[in-house]
Amino acid sequence: MKRTIFTALVLMSVAFSSTAQTSSENPYANNYIYWGYLADYKLGQASSAFTAIDDMLQTYPPQIDIALPREMALVSLDQLLHDTDNDQTEPFYTFINARMERVLKDLDRPVEKGLRIYKMYNDGFIIKSKKATVAIDVIPGGSDSKPFIKDSIIFGICDKCDALFLSHCHPDHVNLRIAKSFAARGKRVIAPKDWWVGVDPMIQPIEVENKIVDIEFGELDLTLHVLPGHQGDVYNNINVVEFHGEGTVAQTGDQWGTQDLEWIDHVHESYDIDILMPNCWINDMERHLRGFGAKMLITGHENELGEHSIDHREAYWITMKKMEQLAELNMPNVLMTWGEWYEYQR
Ligand SMILES: [Zn+2]
Ligand SMILES: [Zn+2]
Repeated sequence: MKRTIFTALVLMSVAFSSTAQTSSENPYANNYIYWGYLADYKLGQASSAFTAIDDMLQTYPPQIDIALPREMALVSLDQLLHDTDNDQTEPFYTFINARMERVLKDLDRPVEKGLRIYKMYNDGFIIKSKKATVAIDVIPGGSDSKPFIKDSIIFGICDKCDALFLSHCHPDHVNLRIAKSFAARGKRVIAPKDWWVGVDPMIQPIEVENKIVDIEFGELDLTLHVLPGHQGDVYNNINVVEFHGEGTVAQTGDQWGTQDLEWIDHVHESYDIDILMPNCWINDMERHLRGFGAKMLITGHENELGEHSIDHREAYWITMKKMEQLAELNMPNVLMTWGEWYEYQR
């Protein structure tokens, strides 16, 4: 007993005098004693929290009326992902890869009717119907030398998709290794104007400016309508995908600007959109939601762990607050995080 107290006192003095060290140096790590090992403590805490969040999200899956435990899990995730100490740590990699591995497995489960929408890292989505599996803005995250999602998982997922539609040229939406993996298997990649011109015949940039382009995918029983959006001056394809007889989805990429608002006001007159997937920080959310006139939403782009400071990582709690302000539109948002999916039927 005395010895324990002595050890504790020694550890306490170390706690106040030393800087954070790595777990391999902490002789008491197996006993969950972290005194003096600050970084080690934070890793242990993050690991515990990511695991609890993952369990909670599986217990309370995506739903229109969000349950309080699910809301708590998403807000807790915001806190972990807005603490830059957790960036590129083992607990983060474990969390995102476990979730993506579930997507990889679930993609083998057929869709009999309607659409299944998978949420991927950042602003990526995969939409699966009975006849087609389409990827939009799917990336591994991180850098090519150290991606967030392991190659074996992300390329396995891409192998199970039939086509890739890209919004715009920013690296949080496009990845050349991913695009080439589609092209190598004879699958079409539709890219924004002037992007990856001549790289591969299967990578097809839009050729016109400020015009809607309709592209038929007869073998997949779908039509892609590319609407000419912008992020500032950058071409930003708004991909409206019509899965014939099953539903229509629209993903807005990084739509941001005022020059497109006038025609966006009228999108609902031309397309019967079931699910709109807007970037959560789009300018004038209300005007876009009215313009697209979708039956429901699945927002994207929350918690981008990229070059932005934490105020522009965009949190789930912020999306929830924005949607509370727009409740009168009666457009439910099924708030999802990476590696989740939602079944939709008309
Ligand atoms: Zn962008
Ligand atoms: Zn983006």
